[in-house]
Amino acid sequence: MNAQDKAARGLTPPLIRHVALTLGIGCAGLASACSGSSQTVQETTPTETKVEPVVVPPDEKTAVEIFEAECREGLVAAKAALPGLLSIGGVRDEQNFLVPYNQMLVDIERSAGTAGLMDAVHPDEEIRNAAKACEQEAASFVTELSLHRGLYDAFAAIDTKGFDAETKRMVEQTLRDYRRAGVDKDDATRARLKEIDETMVKLGQDFGKNIVDDVRTIEVASADLLKGLPEDFIRHHAPNEEGKILITTEYPDLIPFLKYAENDELRKKLYIANKSRAGESNEKTLGQMLTLRAEKAKILGYANWADYITEDKMMKSGDRAAAFIDRVVRTARGRAKLDYKELLAWKKKNMDRRAKSVEDWQKMYIENKVKSESYSFDTQEVRPYFRYEEVEKGLLDITSKMYGIEYKVATDLKLWHEDVSAYEVMQGGKKIGRIYLDMHPREGKYGHAAQFPYRGGVLGVQAPEGVLVCNFPNPRTTDGPALMEHAQVTTMFHEFGHLMHHVLGGQHKWLSQSGVATEWDFVEAPSQMFEEWAWDHEILSGFAKHHETGQVIPKEMVERMRRADKFGVGIRTLQQMFYASVSLEFHRANPETLDMTKLVKKLQTKLTPFAFVEGTKFHSNFGHLNGYSAIYYTYMWSLVIAKDLFTPFEKNGLMARETTYKYRDTILAPGGTKDAADLVVDFLGREFNFKAFENYLRK
Ligand SMILES: [Zn+2]
Repeated sequence: MNAQDKAARGLTPPLIRHVALTLGIGCAGLASACSGSSQTVQETTPTETKVEPVVVPPDEKTAVEIFEAECREGLVAAKAALPGLLSIGGVRDEQNFLVPYNQMLVDIERSAGTAGLMDAVHPDEEIRNAAKACEQEAASFVTELSLHRGLYDAFAAIDTKGFDAETKRMVEQTLRDYRRAGVDKDDATRARLKEIDETMVKLGQDFGKNIVDDVRTIEVASADLLKGLPEDFIRHHAPNEEGKILITTEYPDLIPFLKYAENDELRKKLYIANKSRAGESNEKTLGQMLTLRAEKAKILGYANWADYITEDKMMKSGDRAAAFIDRVVRTARGRAKLDYKELLAWKKKNMDRRAKSVEDWQKMYIENKVKSESYSFDTQEVRPYFRYEEVEKGLLDITSKMYGIEYKVATDLKLWHEDVSAYEVMQGGKKIGRIYLDMHPREGKYGHAAQFPYRGGVLGVQAPEGVLVCNFPNPRTTDGPALMEHAQVTTMFHEFGHLMHHVLGGQHKWLSQSGVATEWDFVEAPSQMFEEWAWDHEILSGFAKHHETGQVIPKEMVERMRRADKFGVGIRTLQQMFYASVSLEFHRANPETLDMTKLVKKLQTKLTPFAFVEGTKFHSNFGHLNGYSAIYYTYMWSLVIAKDLFTPFEKNGLMARETTYKYRDTILAPGGTKDAADLVVDFLGREFNFKAFENYLRK
């Protein structure tokens, strides 16, 4: 139920929040959640530190110039502060070193947070471009700091005796991240690491670009062959001058075609075209990426890249990641067999009496057929119950009650668009943060759903501020009521899960421990767990009322919706584990002897019930091999934890105050001040296990 990124689950990383974290937004630039992947997203060419004062002509400033100056303010301050930090004589302690260091990170975040958000939401393209430039400058500075020998030496010399636990942890993690970047190595080694990082940025960009650029097309001889596809799809695909219909591998063509087209040969053709994209070019690029990652891991003392990249996650090692994937596969297999049996039975009855298997290019088509025939549920049926305004109000009510907070409309704010609303988050009469809701689509805006940790909370310095950026129906511009799909409602709950984590967890003294700055493979657990609230009839009945009749959503309808959603979950889980396994094993293999296609074929055969299709090169167009490298497992890992975290709620009630408060205090409020594994123990009273996940796959 990772609804938030269904649209994005292809090429782009699922969460811009991760982009933000990578850039050092929402957590300290050098903190745990930020490290390890700084090479993957933005161009991060380190530059010399230059202190450039903001110089703007007193008058005739354009809106862009004003924005540029405001956006860079934090960076200017941070760059100015660095020499002072490095020149502190005598003993460095919390007051004379850590506090100003933390302030420098707060200043960087002010620029990076503004830039990252405005690049995604600002209505004016010129401002968005200025934001991109500001974002790059911030990224360069963060990279420079993360490789700064002087700062490392300063941290290494600190005596942490007498520090409180949070401060000790902050120093230890900063040192760990410096070592993981190789800052403690000799000059020649550091030069090589820098070279590797820079080349990897370039290769990662090439890898993504090769996929995006390689759009393939198949020719369809006549409109009769489009049978099964929706009418508007057929209308939009009229034959060209030669009478041919062109179908591309772009999503708006690809997904409906694989889902609805009755012609099996054409579906196969499009499937192969799609899975062959960037085949040769990216095989070469990926080979270079894997070689450099392996070299970097070796220089830093790890057996392979998988061990390196998992070390600062909950997972800790490549072996444990492999064991986790095995475990999930074993758990999902029974359910997947049942799913597969249903698909095959349908195929035998409707396509080929003697069929012995279902092929990969038939999966979506048959799944859709079985779903509509055996799990009669039409997503349009529930829409009248989800009026946007009611859902938003419902969510604010639910989270108020769960966490003992209140929302007060924020006034006197200059917002970037009239559709945006803002609330101060109050607890016990005190302001603890602010949220912004930018919930409706418009041109040029980020097209998916994400939570932007705009300002990380630092006790006594700044309250946390988080922004939800989504694309739901707009009551202001919709003719009639703005009705949501249930999938959108689930997405909204998911993102709100991140938002609450960011705000409630943003009450600590170090920015690097604020809110969602926890281990990367834990960060989806609170959001995935909160999706459960969108599937519970009692919760839904609080706000899901028919917009015409006022009737509460029927329980029977919610149950049918749940059943339909569950169909295919076994197969989907195995599919995800196949992806996770490709991601992991490519980074455990010796790049010199790795036969990529052979390994993909082996893993697909071993893990999924669908045979490998000759001629395809999935690894060449699996975009996540750039952003996630070896750790595509993270979503499933978070989901296993989320299912377990949900068990006390299942037992005591989703709104039982004792449970919701305990969850707030042990999971959300600590932010990154403790290891996630310990937070889970604090809440559950034990380590997490697979039981709830097993039940989820069984039920
Ligand atoms: Zn998420």
